[in-house]
Amino acid sequence: MSRGDMAKPLLGHRGTEGEGSPTPPAGRTVGVLGSGDFARSLAVRLVCSGFRVVVGSRNPKRKASLFPSAAEVTFQAEAVKKADVIFVAIFREHYSTLCDLADVLVGKILVDVSNNTEINHHKESNAEYLASLFPACTVVKGFNVVSAWTLQSGARDGNKQVLICSNNQEAKRIVAEIAQVMGFTPVDMGCMSSACEIENIPLRLLPAWKIPIFLALGLFLCFFTYNLIRQVIHPYIREQKNKLYKIPIEVVNTTLPCVSYVMLSLVYLPGVLAACSQLYYGTKYRRFPDWLDQWLQHRKQIGLLSFFCAALHAVYSLCLPMRRSHRYLLIETAVKQAVEKKMTIWVEEEVWRMEIYISVGIIALGLLSLLAITSLPSIANSLNWREFSFIQSSLGFIALVISSLHTLTYGWSRAFDENQYKFYLPPTYTLTLLVPCTVIIAKVIFSLPCIRHRLLRIRRGWEKGRYVKFVLPSATGEFSSGETSSNV
Ligand code: NAP
Repeated sequence: MSRGDMAKPLLGHRGTEGEGSPTPPAGRTVGVLGSGDFARSLAVRLVCSGFRVVVGSRNPKRKASLFPSAAEVTFQAEAVKKADVIFVAIFREHYSTLCDLADVLVGKILVDVSNNTEINHHKESNAEYLASLFPACTVVKGFNVVSAWTLQSGARDGNKQVLICSNNQEAKRIVAEIAQVMGFTPVDMGCMSSACEIENIPLRLLPAWKIPIFLALGLFLCFFTYNLIRQVIHPYIREQKNKLYKIPIEVVNTTLPCVSYVMLSLVYLPGVLAACSQLYYGTKYRRFPDWLDQWLQHRKQIGLLSFFCAALHAVYSLCLPMRRSHRYLLIETAVKQAVEKKMTIWVEEEVWRMEIYISVGIIALGLLSLLAITSLPSIANSLNWREFSFIQSSLGFIALVISSLHTLTYGWSRAFDENQYKFYLPPTYTLTLLVPCTVIIAKVIFSLPCIRHRLLRIRRGWEKGRYVKFVLPSATGEFSSGETSSNV
């Protein structure tokens, strides 16, 4: 089976998942070896899905009360005799204790649900090991990616995919059918050699998030240090003023939008680099370097982290007036004003700046929320490709432009005020503008008709050097253009 087929369910959907699932194959008795957490949840779910369940335990009397009354709890050998499909819900270390059952297990389908404690812990996968212990059985790997909790919570919650692999197509079909009746979506992962990959899946901790999280943390650390120097260390060294109180909220709140804004531009920068590469080489059939490929694949996570930082920035900003320091400074200003007998401190320009700054910020956050929501698989699946690309590409770019306006209105004329250059360091917002402005300028250049046309042709398969352009006068005397292969 090809890699692309793996994501397809083995069986077509016959009705909706959960309550509307197809009825179980008549008279199927399913065996479960083991009486632990997984075995119990599995038995409950199988019973609820209409199967007859027989549980094999080393100590059935003691364990029977833990199972639903509809499930029969008996000794392992008895259970194995009564079912053709047997879920082996015990740990790999204990597989060898099942060797006494070898005779009764002949011809049965064993479903290996086990996981390891470390990635690639053993030379061979648990399922291959089980198959080597019981060569007269057919082993199917599956159900290890769902937890006991998911099994109990039913089809309404948790992960619904069950990855399945086996060297025997018929056994795989039967197990897939059971999974579907239970309300899961079986996903064919091919033959038994995929078992190792399937067993590693539950052990991976957010594999797609590692790079984006490190990127966000790296950016946060850089901007935080930069802001700390400007807002806390500089006043302490130059004026002996203790501004340490600014660290928990003010410094963090000036750092978060920087990270969010730069991360948002990093969602669109790889697209720009990819377009540059395609324009330079005049083809879309040349592979991008690995780092660019990786970057392109992580755009969704980078975008979601950008939204996360923006949302935190919004909450921090709303809380700014709640701080004691803010109240003291406000009262201090009022007292000073009274002493100086100033009637008003209204600065028209500042008022406008702030109104625009906040309004634009709210719009940017709204657009980012829309991007984040539509990137969720359940929402994304309900959109067609045009709608999805319009939101993620066009609205995303608008969000970047509006975020830039938000940043510019925040900075206003500070970049031209020499007092803002603490230790000769420019205001932070000027640094954050670098990448986003590059992306915006590049996007504007790419939208110029001559470049846009060339890029579109490349993306439709045109290649530089493989075709020559010719211009012929038409019968009417007008000129028409066409393309022909240079080889011809
Ligand atoms: P557990 O609670 O420790 O249960 C293991 C069961 O194995 C015991 O209740 C025991 O039942 C049986 N067993 C058979 N021979 C044994 C022996 N020689 N020594 C000890 N126990 C023996 O473990 P579990 O959480 O249910 O996990 C069972 C399997 O499911 C594991 O392979 C695990 O990787 C897999 N799994 C679990 C989860 C989960 O969420 N828990 C998720 C995915 C996969 P008897 O005493 O009745 O024989």
